[in-house]
Amino acid sequence: MVSSQSATASDEAFRAEVRDWLVANLDGEFAAVRGKGGPGREHEAYEQRLAWDRHLAAAGWTCVGWPVEFGGRGATIEQQVIFHEEYARADAPARVNHLGEELLGPTLIAFGTPEQQARFLPHIKDVTELWCQGYSEPGAGSDLAAVSTAATLRDGQWSITGQKVWTSLAHLADWCFVVARTEPGSQRHHGLSYLLVPMDQPGVTVRPITQLTGTSEFNEVFFDDARTDASLVVGGAGKGWTVAMGTLGFERGVSTLGQQLGFRRELAGVVELARRNGAAEDPIIRDQLTRAWLGLEVMRAHALRTLSSATSGTQASVAKLLWAHWHRGLGELAMDVAGAPSMVEGADGLDDWQRLFLFTRADTIYGGSSEIQRNIIAERTLGLPREARP
Ligand SMILES: Cc1cc2nc3c(=O)[nH]c(=O)nc-3n(C[C@H](O)[C@H](O)[C@H](O)COP(=O)(O)OP(=O)(O)OC[C@H]3O[C@@H](n4cnc5c(N)ncnc54)[C@H](O)[C@@H]3O)c2cc1C
Repeated sequence: MVSSQSATASDEAFRAEVRDWLVANLDGEFAAVRGKGGPGREHEAYEQRLAWDRHLAAAGWTCVGWPVEFGGRGATIEQQVIFHEEYARADAPARVNHLGEELLGPTLIAFGTPEQQARFLPHIKDVTELWCQGYSEPGAGSDLAAVSTAATLRDGQWSITGQKVWTSLAHLADWCFVVARTEPGSQRHHGLSYLLVPMDQPGVTVRPITQLTGTSEFNEVFFDDARTDASLVVGGAGKGWTVAMGTLGFERGVSTLGQQLGFRRELAGVVELARRNGAAEDPIIRDQLTRAWLGLEVMRAHALRTLSSATSGTQASVAKLLWAHWHRGLGELAMDVAGAPSMVEGADGLDDWQRLFLFTRADTIYGGSSEIQRNIIAERTLGLPREARP
């Protein structure tokens, strides 16, 4: 959170503008989308959330951090955090195109051709084209350089064959950014390309995977001679590794900084549950709740420090480790507070706390697992020898 001492007058004016707009607009037809969606609950009020995102776009509140010349507001990092904080404070719904806005958009701005930028950025901003991320494969998760999905140029098009897995929101996406091997026989991070592939075509099959929560938010995606235009390679053929790493930098960066108010609201809900059901009398639960509050303060301090200093490559890894373990711990604490009833599913399905517990098991895996983040910190911050690579 941006502290009131360090915030400038223009930051405070920006905060007031965001807050007033959200209060005025999360009303009427959009009152019902408050608090809807998010990990484990992406199915909730989907059409209404899509309409809400387009409403935000029409008022210029999507892509606030993009430079003005690419259709954004050119908001500073501090303002982007303020936007996310106010968005969470207003209990506004989870966004439907965060992969386009937060990952692909900044990647195209950094690595795309002017034609690619002109073709795709306006539709991300207006929320008229939704995106998914085709990185992971059955044999290439943490080790992305093991990608084996292959693409070759044929008749002015890339022909893509292979399989991706855990592809979030692929069942709703219009396009996928795909890391594929375009130089036959190449090894590891050489010979990869970053392709933009339309999903609605005969060569693409999306098969949902059912999660612990019973919902399906990620998928297997099969490419069988799927096609995309030869021009839709970002950063040049064979340069996919650099582009893919650029995207991961955005994934682990500023987009996670504003989430703490959402966490704060979840913690407040667990504290309230403990008060209601008497768990707050238990000294161990009281201790755990206090530790959870302290963990939030640590994350806030880390975010403030990150904002007030030149960012190093490992701060994003530290932030990911802090929030992923804190949030997974909150899911466990919610089960402790709920007690025995947490062990059975109610007549209406899982309650919010059960869903939180189950979905937060994934927090330490996606966006780079905790082991991988610790490896990054070990090598880049502690200067430990590089671990043996396959
Ligand atoms: C909810 C969710 C959404 C996702 N969405 C997407 C998506 O939209 N697009 C996409 O491409 N992918 C997505 N993923 C996939 C995610 O990026 C991978 O699950 C993650 O990178 C780990 O890869 P893996 O599952 O293959 O596990 P593996 O890489 O097989 O790892 C298995 C275990 O070994 C550990 N490990 C692996 N290598 C090392 C090492 N070198 N040192 C120490 N430990 C190691 C890992 O930490 C892990 O505990 C998603 C995953 C989840 C859970």
